[in-house]
Amino acid sequence: MNTEKDAKREKKIQQLKMRVTPIGNGTALDHIPSGHGLRIIELLGFEKDKGAALAINTESRKLGRKDLVLLEDRFLTEKELEKVKLLARNSTHNVIENYKVAKKEVLGLPEKVEDIIKCINPNCITNHESIPTKFIITKKEPLEATCYYCETAMEEEEIMKAIK
Ligand SMILES: [Zn+2]
Repeated sequence: MNTEKDAKREKKIQQLKMRVTPIGNGTALDHIPSGHGLRIIELLGFEKDKGAALAINTESRKLGRKDLVLLEDRFLTEKELEKVKLLARNSTHNVIENYKVAKKEVLGLPEKVEDIIKCINPNCITNHESIPTKFIITKKEPLEATCYYCETAMEEEEIMKAIK
């Protein structure tokens, strides 16, 4: 008899179940830094007749606290994944098909992003003409991105706000 051990094991099983099984088909984004999950859902947007779930501050051995986003019947485009990479690098992207993880990858940072970040420089050509913005990731920790057109460097916090 070891009830404490059993309780721990049961809790672990519940956590594992929660991680992937609530959706039959769709996308699970796991290991999102705590507090970034809501922003990711906002950016990706809801679809009226499809389910979505957000778990905030769930426990993670790796990160302490993390967020989890589940999107039912939704598969992310490359562009959507780039947004997720900027907001939650090192998060895990799971593609779920028939209640099973069909594909799993840890998201790194892109080297450059196009038409995702709005340039903070009001005089930048991208804020006056209809050309897509282009940013080169110039530092990773903390994040820094430099505008290809006006060479303005944006810091992590500015980038987070400027993702469109
Ligand atoms: Zn610029």
